[in-house]
Amino acid sequence: MPTATTSSSTSSTSLRVDIVPCLNDNYGYLIVDEARGQCAIVDASETKPVLDAIARVGLPLAAILSTHHHHDHVGGNAEVLAAHPKAIVYGHSSDQGRIPGLTHPLEDGATFELGSFSVTARHVPGHTLGAVTYVVSDGDGPAWAFTGDTLFVAGCGRLFEGTPAQMHRSLCGILAELPPDTRVACGHEYTAANLKFAAHVEPQNTHVAAKIAAVAALRAKGEPTVPGTIGEEREINPFLRVDVPAVRTHVGADASTDSSEVLRLLREEKNSFK
Ligand SMILES: [Zn+2]
Repeated sequence: MPTATTSSSTSSTSLRVDIVPCLNDNYGYLIVDEARGQCAIVDASETKPVLDAIARVGLPLAAILSTHHHHDHVGGNAEVLAAHPKAIVYGHSSDQGRIPGLTHPLEDGATFELGSFSVTARHVPGHTLGAVTYVVSDGDGPAWAFTGDTLFVAGCGRLFEGTPAQMHRSLCGILAELPPDTRVACGHEYTAANLKFAAHVEPQNTHVAAKIAAVAALRAKGEPTVPGTIGEEREINPFLRVDVPAVRTHVGADASTDSSEVLRLLREEKNSFK
C-alpha cells in the first residue's frame, strides 16, 4: 500500500504528510518538516508502523498529536516515546490521564508552532468529550485538518461521549467552516461504507455517485481514500448536510425539527445500517 502523499501536486508547499496505515483500518499521519529536519505523528495508533515511518524519513520525532484517547489512536504513544524521548505530546486538556504521555494539554483555539508549520487545535467534542482536530498549515498551500474519529470522509464517528448538539456544532459549526480546499485526514478507512449510507440518504446526489466510483477504483488498487477535502465533504457527507431538504426528508424531519435532531436521527440509522 502506498504510504505517502503530498499536500498538492501543483503547490510549492513544504508541508508533506505521509499516511501511516495502522491496525486494521486506522490511519496515522506523519508530518514531515524537511526544512527544520524534524517530523511529528498524528495518532501513534500502533508502535511498529509509526516507528518504521519515522525511520523511513530519517528525522527526529518532535511531537505526537493525539486526536482523542481511544486505544486505537494512542496505543503506540508509550513505546514511540520510549524510542523518541524528546518528543512532546499534544491532546485536549480534558484528556489528561487518558492520553499516555500527554505533556501539552490544549484548549479550543490554541495555536502553536510545529517547526516550519503553524497548528490550530479545535476542540470538537461528540465522538469523545476530548476530541481535537489539528489544522496544520505552512502558510502557502492548503491546510490539513487531522480530524481523528470526528469527521470521516463521507461520514462521522459514533457518539460515544458527546451529545448530538455537540457533534453538530463540531461538524457543521467548526469543521465545515474551514476553507474548502482544506485536506481532511481522518482516523479510519471507512469511506466506502460511509458512501453506501450517503447514497441511501440521498439517492439523487450525483456527487455521492461519482465519489463511490472514484473510491471503488482506489480501493481496487489497495490505495487509501484519504485525504478528502472540506469542499467535497460539504457535497457528499450527510452529517454536514443536515440542513439540506433531501436529508431532512429522509429522516422524517418537519419544520420544527432542529439540525441536531436530524444529525441524531442520521447517526442512529447509520449505527445499524448494513
Ligand atoms: Zn475513536
